[in-house]
Amino acid sequence: MKKCASCNNQFSIKQLLRSAWLGYEKINCQHCEAIYEHSFFNRVLVSLISIMPIVIAFIIVEYYDLNYSISFMLLSVALFILIALISMRYLKFRRVD
Ligand SMILES: [Zn+2]
Repeated sequence: MKKCASCNNQFSIKQLLRSAWLGYEKINCQHCEAIYEHSFFNRVLVSLISIMPIVIAFIIVEYYDLNYSISFMLLSVALFILIALISMRYLKFRRVD
């Protein structure tokens, strides 16, 4: 998980996800008040995280000839959570203040 560069305070997954969902809002370290912004890399990564589950779910449903509506939705959600959690550790931030 990502840590604050000045005080080593860990950012929570909830904090990172929330910031990404709210249009890459800046992240405040709750311990030392340092402010971080998302790098361009994060924007690319988050776009991929949003698209990848849908593509993978589509391929799986096609391949195994599964019932479309239910399987596709469940697979997309499961894959999204999995991919989002894995990629959280690769996010990069830049200190702004
Ligand atoms: Zn800090």
